[in-house]
Amino acid sequence: MKKIGVLTSGGDAPGMNAAIRAIVRAGIYNNIEVMGVSRGYEGLINGEIKHMDVSSVADIIHKGGTILKTARSEQFKTEEGRKKAINVLEVFGIEGLVIIGGDGSFRGAEKLSEAGVKTIGIPGTIDNDLPYSEFTIGFDTAVNTVLDAITKIRDTSTSHEKATIIEVMGRHCGDIALYSGLAGGAESVLVPEEEFDINDVCKKLVQGKSRGKLHNIIMLAEGTSDAYELQKEIFERVGIEARVTVLGFIQRGGNPSSFDRILASKMGAYAIDALINGKSSRALGIKNNKIFDMDIAEALTMEKQFDSDTYQLTNILSI
Ligand code: ADP
Repeated sequence: MKKIGVLTSGGDAPGMNAAIRAIVRAGIYNNIEVMGVSRGYEGLINGEIKHMDVSSVADIIHKGGTILKTARSEQFKTEEGRKKAINVLEVFGIEGLVIIGGDGSFRGAEKLSEAGVKTIGIPGTIDNDLPYSEFTIGFDTAVNTVLDAITKIRDTSTSHEKATIIEVMGRHCGDIALYSGLAGGAESVLVPEEEFDINDVCKKLVQGKSRGKLHNIIMLAEGTSDAYELQKEIFERVGIEARVTVLGFIQRGGNPSSFDRILASKMGAYAIDALINGKSSRALGIKNNKIFDMDIAEALTMEKQFDSDTYQLTNILSI
């Protein structure tokens, strides 16, 4: 293997830059030329490709976002679009491709490998919704960002003796709400994986109020229920006015945590080793603090196991 490409695709995540840096540096260390593809699969189709040297990835390990930019590509979902992408790879002499992204990007990688392109997928998404890996790059940073917000909201919530509903990202996965909720001492954590009873939420609010609790944080994972509907329902049931804070895109930015930088660095270097060893169509993951690889198609068919022990713990500790 003499020349490989790297791209970031789908939603960005803090730590993607650390992964790019590791791929470029580990590639150069192993005498492999690394080409950076801008704007994900869309950039690949358009031939937005440039050589990356050692200094092209200097001073980025600590930065959020992705220096390669990211995009969503409708064209790439078509056979014709993918044919163009494969032609571009041939023209540039790129023998292997590392894709940093979420499940959609992995589906794209799977299609490319079916067409004979050597691909390695690195899980980069704040949602932590890739079922085969304990963690994805960006998740830990997002949890820390949310935790910081909870801490600040708790101050004003306490001063005004108000309840607050904090809506966080995660699409169909409640991990951000769950982990930040536990770390932030939230009174209720509502996630799509577990049905919740609005009466339990209201009971906690009423009981908390009567025992002089000054704040009440309700963590709501997007994909569970509408925050404003929840606010309305709480008011109608128990007459308590909860504030709503939708954190939004703040969760996708910021300097990656040490955990994400280390995970990204390890996975980037692992991807190079995997390609050198002739592996293809592999998804990288982490389990018990060890990086591993598995068939990308199989990884995509797995079902995410919700961490119900941690969920139960948040309920026990928030009585
Ligand atoms: P993420 O990787 O963060 O889950 P998306 O789901 O938006 O983000 O996927 C990113 C890109 O991957 C899409 O814009 C598309 O180009 C490509 N992609 C997604 N699903 C498929 C698919 N089934 N076949 C081919 N390409 C896909």
